[in-house]
Amino acid sequence: MASNNARPNCTCEDREAHKDISRGFLYMVKLSLRDEDVKFRKFLKLLSDWKAAQITIIEVVVEVKSMFKDHPQILNGFREFLPREFANLIPKVEYYADQ
Ligand SMILES: [Zn+2]
Repeated sequence: MASNNARPNCTCEDREAHKDISRGFLYMVKLSLRDEDVKFRKFLKLLSDWKAAQITIIEVVVEVKSMFKDHPQILNGFREFLPREFANLIPKVEYYADQ
């Protein structure tokens, strides 16, 4: 399902570290959306369309921001998932897991 290469190649110096972050993020999304399978599959489709260069990063970000406006932890994880040069397209969301 959540294939490990469902992200474009990154240009980080430490690509393995970023790959680990990406894997952790995809797993977290899968858990968060365990009752929202349609949304989860839509998210994976966005990533694979992006990887296939059928949509731009801006389109992905617009869609992700809208899909996950009630999931701040996913938006924050998505910042780290993105290639670094795009991270600032996602505003950092304050959220408190305890509340
Ligand atoms: Zn990277």
